[in-house]
Amino acid sequence: MVNLKMGIKENLAIINDKINQSVIKSHRKENSVKLMAVSKFHPIDAIQTAIDAGQTLFGENRVQEARQKFEILYNTNKNIELNLIGQLQSNKVKDAVKYASCIQSVDRIKLLQEIEKQCIIQNKKINVLFELHTAEDSKSGFESVDEIDNILSEFDNHFSHIIPCGFMTMAPFTDDEKLIRKSFITLRNAKEYLQNKYNNYNLSELSMGMSNDFEIAIQEGSTLVRIGTAIFGERQY
Ligand SMILES: *Cc1c(COP(=O)(O)O)cnc(C)c1O
Repeated sequence: MVNLKMGIKENLAIINDKINQSVIKSHRKENSVKLMAVSKFHPIDAIQTAIDAGQTLFGENRVQEARQKFEILYNTNKNIELNLIGQLQSNKVKDAVKYASCIQSVDRIKLLQEIEKQCIIQNKKINVLFELHTAEDSKSGFESVDEIDNILSEFDNHFSHIIPCGFMTMAPFTDDEKLIRKSFITLRNAKEYLQNKYNNYNLSELSMGMSNDFEIAIQEGSTLVRIGTAIFGERQY
């Protein structure tokens, strides 16, 4: 039988190494890409193994599952951070705001309104990323840069407890490198356009790249890769 826990530590080392090599090859600054370990569908002891190996940033896509695991993990691990990366229903925002430091999957203004409301109740500020829909086969994210543009143009008037930090996308699930790259370039262009227009915000975060495509994402400017399978193995749904 494979020793899974051993595997997680080794996988993390391999991924960190590959990230560093991609950063160097792309002539980017050292440490300019963060690693998020996507722990959805993996148990607490797998996450704890990753923490013990030095991993601090985690991503989950379902609030209830995230809460069950992280309210326990937060008790004994002070430096860990959780981001939400999955489609978020309004009735889950309360716990999302409570347990996450960043909601990466903001895809509609209604969601921002609910996040603001919960932040006021909980007396808290939270980071968000705007998710942009850049691939045919996924459904999530804003459909156009214009929608995000409109929101940013009046952001301060409505969302004083929310800090916009950048953008997130998912590339298509395909072997076609050109299509994957196109998706990442679309996100980077959106960032450059909006950062230039709204320079009162730091919108520099580009959350893009997963187990299968993170090296391409780094070449195209990713600042945060979200990796599940290559760290924890296949998910048991
Ligand atoms: C599951 C998930 C990931 C991680 O995918 P892997 O292919 O397992 O690395 C990254 N981003 C999002 C939004 C996800 O839902």
